[in-house]
Amino acid sequence: MNIRLKHLPLKNITVNSPYGKRNITVNDKSYWWHNGVDLKAPLNTPVYAVDEGKVMIATYNNSYGYYVVLYHGKYGTLYSHLRNYTVNSNDRVKAGDIIGYSGSSGDSTGPHLHFEIRLCKYENFWDRAQCDSTVFMNTVDPMLFIEDYLEKQKEITVKEAIPIVQSAAGLEDRTMDYIVNHYKYGDDLVKKLAKAII
Ligand SMILES: [Zn+2]
Repeated sequence: MNIRLKHLPLKNITVNSPYGKRNITVNDKSYWWHNGVDLKAPLNTPVYAVDEGKVMIATYNNSYGYYVVLYHGKYGTLYSHLRNYTVNSNDRVKAGDIIGYSGSSGDSTGPHLHFEIRLCKYENFWDRAQCDSTVFMNTVDPMLFIEDYLEKQKEITVKEAIPIVQSAAGLEDRTMDYIVNHYKYGDDLVKKLAKAII
């Protein structure tokens, strides 16, 4: 798993319904495999691109509702049941860019974000060829990657963060020292910046 998210799809992550096998009926359609994870998201919560990439799809269909597909080079992500999207096909996005707002469009019983990760080339994005009990349409459990991201976030210390921010921003020692020691919440800021850079 050499893919790492650079941002979370939502600011706060709570799983409403996990990835994988299930048997549910929504609006008279039955689904035996859940291609993504349903994340708790009240109506109108900002939804973020998890990595830099290209907007492949920003449209509506009856199942996904308003949805966006991004491609990040080695993998793709899908964000659905949005209230609306704020990007267009062929746009470039950066990690952390807002791509839309959560909603309950399409086959959905209440506001949430259905988020998918597909590990494949874009031309195979909708491929069912690999369908078996564990792999369906090249999807994987997004929580593996989200948990990895959260774990990495926890680990960083101010001491580790300083050189990362310093080299990326080209700041002098005394500027870094001022930010960390004299600026209110400066140490938190430096840690956050470092996490955004790595
Ligand atoms: Zn879902």
